[in-house]
Amino acid sequence: MTVEARRPDTAARAEGAGTAPAPSGPLLSVRDLTMTFPGRRSASGRRGAPVRAVDGVSFDLAAGETLGLVGESGCGKSTTGRMLVRLLEPTSGSITFDGRDITRLSQRGLRPHRRHLQMVFQDPHSSLNPRQTVARIISDPLLVQGWSASDARRRAAELMDLVGLIPEHIDRYPHEFSGGQAQRIGIARSLATSPRLIVADEPVSALDVSVQAQIVNLMERLRRELDLAYVFIAHDLSVVKRVSDRVAVMYLGRIVEIGEKRALYESPQHPYTRALLSAVPLPDPAAERRRERIVLLGDPPSPAAPPPGCTFHPRCPKAQDVCRTDRPLLRIAASREVACHFPGD
Ligand code: SF4
Repeated sequence: MTVEARRPDTAARAEGAGTAPAPSGPLLSVRDLTMTFPGRRSASGRRGAPVRAVDGVSFDLAAGETLGLVGESGCGKSTTGRMLVRLLEPTSGSITFDGRDITRLSQRGLRPHRRHLQMVFQDPHSSLNPRQTVARIISDPLLVQGWSASDARRRAAELMDLVGLIPEHIDRYPHEFSGGQAQRIGIARSLATSPRLIVADEPVSALDVSVQAQIVNLMERLRRELDLAYVFIAHDLSVVKRVSDRVAVMYLGRIVEIGEKRALYESPQHPYTRALLSAVPLPDPAAERRRERIVLLGDPPSPAAPPPGCTFHPRCPKAQDVCRTDRPLLRIAASREVACHFPGD
């Protein structure tokens, strides 16, 4: 029996209060999402140029689907994830969840939707309050939703069982758990309110490789059993390949390629995607020796001073004159969307 099925009736009523039947369509629809941070102040007090961390991100996500969001550090993927669950307020653009525009809802207006939108963080220990027991950590979202303390505690124990923790450890503190176990606590907390979408921000990158596989397997099982949708943010393309149905590649705040996983991994169309994939180790040593690595020049430019035209052009082995002046928009190429004037090989 699933935890959802065992939810106490009283709490289920409290959770359902004020929500209307869901319309059909994508579970999540993101349009032209941008985030601009104010520039840093220098020692002289002058403020630097604003930083466009996310620059016009758009995608849809179906119920039960996983979208992998990949790119180098600083590409805007984590900022995007935090905007999706409204931990950050977008500068512009829209986020439609289950047919309702939640972009500008107040915290009070967001409350009926909040339970369906949860987040799992990268560093499990730093995302858990060290002074709270596991019971309190997992119960907290339920208490906010109006559950009684006893029902919330019972549900917390069920969730510990669901994620592979021992329910009898419910009164322990985070430091008494390993990194992998702590991430299971974080996942249990995210599941407490029966969400439909979880944004997982580098959920395994702080863990040992063997533990990573266990957490990925757990998230896969939970997705199947609970019909979850994930936005799975990672820089490790091997991990993303395992969990995703579709993949979006971000560079300097923009999606440069987005499409079905198999097509994207087998025939990447954007030079940046090709470079990222060429660095993923292959399981076959002979294939690994034969494979040609694409080494990108330099580091990504600062989002405070992005290059004109295609922002990838200073590092792109295929760059031509038009790339230095004209920004390529996402358009269909080889059954996915690519932002490149010269997609393909
Ligand atoms: Fe490279 Fe030009 Fe395509 Fe940008 S538009 S990725 S610079 S080929």
